[in-house]
Amino acid sequence: MYMLKICRCCDAILGELDREAFGATDMDLSLEIVGNVAYALCPQCMQELDINSRAYLH
Ligand SMILES: [Zn+2]
Repeated sequence: MYMLKICRCCDAILGELDREAFGATDMDLSLEIVGNVAYALCPQCMQELDINSRAYLH
């Protein structure tokens, strides 16, 4: 069974996940499964969040 992997910030489709293989691969920990959709962060949003959190800390 396949799930869509979607960026939770900008809704960009990042690809598909094989649910059977889920757990066997090193998925990023920010992944959140809702129904048949796995919400994650695309590299762009990840970078933005990283910059924002750094800016917040300083
Ligand atoms: Zn994004």
